Amino acid sequence: MNRIFFILASMLTISCGSSNNPASTKAPEGNNITISFSADSAYSYIERQVAFGPRVPGTESHTKCLDYLVATLNSFGAQVSVQEGEGIDFYGKKMPVRNIIAHVGPEKAKRVLLCSHWDCRPFADNDADRSRINEPIDGANDGASGVGIILEIARQLQQKEATVGVDILFFDVEDYGKPDHIDVEYRPDTWCLGSQYWGRSDEGQQCRARFGILLDMVGAPGAQFLRENFSVAYAANIVDKVWKAAETTGHGDRFLFEDGGYITDDHYYINQLTDVPCIDIIHLENGGTSFGAYWHTHDDTMKNIDRQTLSAVGETLLQVIYNER
Ligand SMILES: [Zn+2]
Repeated sequence: MNRIFFILASMLTISCGSSNNPASTKAPEGNNITISFSADSAYSYIERQVAFGPRVPGTESHTKCLDYLVATLNSFGAQVSVQEGEGIDFYGKKMPVRNIIAHVGPEKAKRVLLCSHWDCRPFADNDADRSRINEPIDGANDGASGVGIILEIARQLQQKEATVGVDILFFDVEDYGKPDHIDVEYRPDTWCLGSQYWGRSDEGQQCRARFGILLDMVGAPGAQFLRENFSVAYAANIVDKVWKAAETTGHGDRFLFEDGGYITDDHYYINQLTDVPCIDIIHLENGGTSFGAYWHTHDDTMKNIDRQTLSAVGETLLQVIYNER
């Protein structure tokens, strides 16, 4: 990812877009829902993705990880498919896209969408070591963390059914946008190729989810989530719903009622191209003007994944899903 647009300033800035807790169980106020989310389990799903090596499109690591994600979703009883498509990269060349789509409770008319990108950035363009900027990053947080949390949610939904069905989307080729150090003519829309393909496809056009929640960089120690501005513009009521659920589950210290700037991420294209209002839960710092220091560097490794952050996001999402009627 990504770019942050500061509309008020009328300028464009390029940006993107362990502890040892046991499984946690909470009884949120105001209802009888008991939420179980295992941060250990989510952590292990992130670890597995990273262990394949960087999931850069076109590599063996990418294909092996795809097989792993499909098999894992299948093991949780979801209806799984791989959407094969293509996009145009920053060189203007065709780039294959493989989105992973899973439906939990496919027969249910009432649905919500959870999504994250599963590919890895092929560059470490922000790394201090300029000799390694053309090497791919591990993407433990930028990619794998959102996928890991959603996998754990899918596992929980198999154990305890929700009233609503859940559509899961792991987008490919989110993080292949042009780095500053490669000098080619600017082309628009070179980030988020997977969500752009899905949004224009029959699957995207026919998606029945009442709303969507995108996760991106949701595992760093102490991460906080600000109210990203495209999310507020397209789906303010969903931002309110999720931020309230965070308060209810005791994670109000992570989900701040602060302006997060405009981030071009997969949710932007979902909002632009489909009827599903979608928000982005994304780690932002300094009032939304920057991402974490690990972002697009070789520091985006498992050592920067924290179970408490995974729990804060996972418990919040389960609180939202189990309260949908
Ligand atoms: Zn990224």
